[in-house]
Amino acid sequence: MARIGFVGLGNMGGPMARNLVKAGHAVAVFDTVPDLVARCAAAGAAPVGSAADAARDADLVFTMLPAGQHVRDAWLGGGRMAAASRPDAVLVDCSTIDVAAAREVAAASGRAFLDAPVSGGVMGAEGATLTFMVGGPQPAFAQAEPILKQMGRAAIHCGEAGAGQAAKACNNMILAATMIVTCEAFVLAEKLGLSHQALFDVASKSSGQSWSLTTYCPVPGPVPGSPANRDYAPGFSAALMAKDLGLAAQAAAETGAATPMGAKALELYQAFLEAGGGGTDFSGIIRMLRGAA
Ligand code: NAD
Repeated sequence: MARIGFVGLGNMGGPMARNLVKAGHAVAVFDTVPDLVARCAAAGAAPVGSAADAARDADLVFTMLPAGQHVRDAWLGGGRMAAASRPDAVLVDCSTIDVAAAREVAAASGRAFLDAPVSGGVMGAEGATLTFMVGGPQPAFAQAEPILKQMGRAAIHCGEAGAGQAAKACNNMILAATMIVTCEAFVLAEKLGLSHQALFDVASKSSGQSWSLTTYCPVPGPVPGSPANRDYAPGFSAALMAKDLGLAAQAAAETGAATPMGAKALELYQAFLEAGGGGTDFSGIIRMLRGAA
């Protein structure tokens, strides 16, 4: 049993913290929204009055917060989590934030700090099937790995500080671009009188194959579990995809990498958000593409 602090108990952090309780750990929890703390307390976690209190005395301390400024503030600013933590504690931020902020917080924390963003969404958080992409010192990763695997299926050490966020930004840029072009192929097929099923049957066994097609097909029918079959209820929302593409674009600007497809994907998702699609699944962008002839 480990002593764990967990701060940020929203859609992702709440179920993650509850899975740690289920695994038998002593988990001190904090969120600025009292109802979310109460839900975790009802599941057996110990509610505390501040982020610093959650960090105090813990072997491992987790954050799962919206964006870079929240992470900076929680660890280094008003939240004072880094200063309150034990010098030998392992600190783990699971939020999706920019690489530069992840490196800055890790360096300033004065502790063994891991950036460990996830893929798998809310279902993965609830079912403990997340994948963690981890940056930071190897010994800290070795300490955290067994605990991460109680919240997920896999934890991959990607390199030094920021490498987890880098892997997440690169992966989601691939995902966004392949989803958009998969949607475009279905729209073109519709115009050509080619059925969804026929395109799926061919492309899923040909060089057009991808996760966006075979696991997350953006039209109803061929993959019964995909969000297209439930009116594009997320899943992974278009708003979160736009956020992740923004982080990839920021990283590209900071490093001078050429990512024209990633930039175009960001532009298209921003247009989808402006058209009111932010709350729908990211595969729902096919509706906008159908309309934008
Ligand atoms: P969320 O908004 O549901 O949860 C964030 C929580 O942080 C909220 O409950 C909020 O009250 C709390 N919070 C904010 N500032 C705080 C502070 N200073 N102290 C304590 N609590 C504070 O967001 P989420 O969907 O759980 O996402 C969390 C992170 O995970 C984001 O970075 C997101 O990009 C990433 N992510 C989300 C998904 C998804 O499907 N939801 C998938 C992968 C990654």
